[in-house]
Amino acid sequence: MHELSIVMSILETAKNELSKVKESSIESIELEIGLLSGIEIDALNFAWKISVENTVLQNAKKIICRPEGIAKCTICNKKFKIDSLFDPCPFCYSFNKKVISGKELKIKRLTVL
Ligand SMILES: [Zn+2]
Repeated sequence: MHELSIVMSILETAKNELSKVKESSIESIELEIGLLSGIEIDALNFAWKISVENTVLQNAKKIICRPEGIAKCTICNKKFKIDSLFDPCPFCYSFNKKVISGKELKIKRLTVL
């Protein structure tokens, strides 16, 4: 399961950050998981539950932000919302675009006690 390896890497990062500030537990963790990232939140939550026991994230409150897909057309330079990575520009129908948002998969904020 892809989501499990993601949770493991989040956990690894959280541990590293915690050791830097010499604290022992994390109060909350804010994740940014774009709607186009391909991550299934249910699977992620499940992986989370089985992975964080007896770790620094055990009692951490998990907050998930889901930025929507936004792309910028490289032909007409307009910005538009996309539901899939294969959506064309609605203005000029070009498929040449740059995805600006929606593919995020990162830890946005960690709060320590
Ligand atoms: Zn366009």
